[in-house]
Amino acid sequence: MTTRRLASLTLLALATLPGMAGAQAYPSKSITLVVPFAAGGPTDVVARTLGAAMQKTLGQTVVIENKLGAGGTLAAGYVAKAAPDGYTFLIHHNGMATAPGLYRKLAYNPLTDFEYVSQVVDVPMTFLARKDFPAATPPEMLAYVKAQGNKLTLAHAGLGAVSQLCGMLFQKTVGVEFTTVPYQGTAPAMNALLGGQVDLLCDQTTQTVQHIKAGNVKFYGVTTRERVKLLPDAPTLEESGLKGFEVKVWHGIYAPKGTPTVAIDRFGAALRTALKDPAVMQRMTELGADIVPESKQTPEGLRSWLKPEIDKWGALIRSAGQYAD
Ligand code: ASP
Repeated sequence: MTTRRLASLTLLALATLPGMAGAQAYPSKSITLVVPFAAGGPTDVVARTLGAAMQKTLGQTVVIENKLGAGGTLAAGYVAKAAPDGYTFLIHHNGMATAPGLYRKLAYNPLTDFEYVSQVVDVPMTFLARKDFPAATPPEMLAYVKAQGNKLTLAHAGLGAVSQLCGMLFQKTVGVEFTTVPYQGTAPAMNALLGGQVDLLCDQTTQTVQHIKAGNVKFYGVTTRERVKLLPDAPTLEESGLKGFEVKVWHGIYAPKGTPTVAIDRFGAALRTALKDPAVMQRMTELGADIVPESKQTPEGLRSWLKPEIDKWGALIRSAGQYAD
């Protein structure tokens, strides 16, 4: 056998080794991108927009799998333990950094159980009430919620969801306590708000902007420090008197620890191509999602971001005294 033939046989064997992303073959089948919340919601919309665009570069389908429960921690735990073969990835938001503070027992460690692919987009949140909520302006809303307290219901997507985080900070800052109602994502939480079954919801523009513009909900402001381009007339919650209030939702893409570098590199490269795709850019603008700068579109861009975020939210969560076992 010639050396050349031996070399190509070795490459072939490597490429087809079970459970391994061979350099030649990857990706040789569809790739699963796990979303920790319900289909149709904010995280899902970002995942599906990117997944569809990435298929063009990868030459394989990106299958979106919604793994629901426990404020996103179930999905993260599932991906942490999935085969590190380059065919399972996770998209998650700030929940990756808040869960260690919120859960006494967490089935995974965000700092040691994953490979990091990239950050993706930053999204503002919006504070909403059901359409017939009896307050027209932010000051009226604040006076009303203070008077009503736990007679009011606040929907969220579970302990670890950004809707829960935003709601928790709101209650702490205003000095009220609502009755909270958890859902498995803010798509069902939004349905409950639209149907008038709950009073309040804090959620990303990626889902809410359509309902704000259609007048389906009462809208009191954005959760970012700065006003938002897409909703220029809306005050920030801080402007309305909630001192220091800020929640900006960031997203990262992860893979199980030990996933081959070739898979991380190719999935990451397809993601970076998608983030430059004019159709993706336009869709993200319509949703109020800011594509992160290129320096954050890297494994290091996510890795170096995560630890300070865990520290920042951990301190806030401890001061609010919210945990689950
Ligand atoms: N917006 C949700 C959250 O509160 C998650 C979702 O349904 O995408 O974390």
